[in-house]
Amino acid sequence: MPEGDSIHRIQQLLRPALAGYTVESFWARTLKGHRPRSGMTISEVRAHGKHLLVDFKTPNDRTLTLDTHLGMVGSWRLAAPETKVSGGHDPTIRILITTAAGQAICRRATTIRTFVHDGQEISALPGQLGPDLTTPQPELDLIAKRAERVGASASAVTIAELLLDQKIGAGIGNIYKSETLFLEGVWPFAPVQQIDTSTIRRLYQTAAQLLHTNVKTNRPRQTVEGGGFFVYDRWRLPCRRCGTAVSRAYRGLDPSKQQRSTYWCTVCQPASALP
Ligand SMILES: [Zn+2]
Repeated sequence: MPEGDSIHRIQQLLRPALAGYTVESFWARTLKGHRPRSGMTISEVRAHGKHLLVDFKTPNDRTLTLDTHLGMVGSWRLAAPETKVSGGHDPTIRILITTAAGQAICRRATTIRTFVHDGQEISALPGQLGPDLTTPQPELDLIAKRAERVGASASAVTIAELLLDQKIGAGIGNIYKSETLFLEGVWPFAPVQQIDTSTIRRLYQTAAQLLHTNVKTNRPRQTVEGGGFFVYDRWRLPCRRCGTAVSRAYRGLDPSKQQRSTYWCTVCQPASALP
C-alpha cells in the first residue's frame, strides 16, 4: 500500500532517469490538464506526502507539474530505454515517460493530473496538501494550526480520520495511522475537538519519524525493531506491550464516509485516557 515512504522510494528510483533529461515521448491514457510533450525538459521529480510530482519546463519557462496519486494498488517502475513498452495493449498502464536514460511506467494510478505554475511551492498544488511528513523536521506549527481549524469546526472528525487527511499533513496512510496512535497511547476514535495541541504535535512528530526511518532504509516497511508492526494487521493477536488482544474496527464519526480499518489496543489506548 503506497504511503509517504514508498512514494519517496519511487522518487529516488525515477529521478536519475528523468530529472535533467529531455522527454523523448510522453503517453498517458487519460489526464486532467495540459499534456507534457516530447522535447520538454524534466526539471525535477519530487515526492510530497503520497503524491509523486514530475516537473516539466514549458517553452515559456513555466512549470507543468504532473501529479500522480497511486491509491491502493498503483505503481511506478523504471525500465531500460530500449524496452519500449507501449501503453495501448495493456489497460493497466496509465503513463509512460521515455528519456535517453529510461522509461518510467505508471500502472493503475487513481489520480493523474497536471497543473501549470511558476515555482515549486506546495501552495501550487491543487487541494492544498499539508506539509510533507517524510522529513525528520516537519512543519509542526502549520500542521497544528490546520488541525486546530478542524477541531474548531462543527464537523465530526476522529483523530484517526484527521491523521489520514492529507491537507493537514501529507504522507500518513492507514498503516502509519494505527501505529502512530498506538505509540502515543491515543484512542483512535476520540473526536479531534477533545485532543490538545501538544498531543496533536506529538502524533505528527511520531508519524514523521516512522515515515522518515522507512524512507532511509531499503527494508520492507516496519515499525517494530526486527520487523512487523505494533498493532496494524494484528487483529486478535496479543498487544506487544501488554498482551491484550488487538482490536480492529471500521468506523468514524461520519457514517456517510467510507471507513478504513483501524487497529488498536484497548488497554494501551483507553478511551478514558483522553485529556
Ligand atoms: Zn496493549
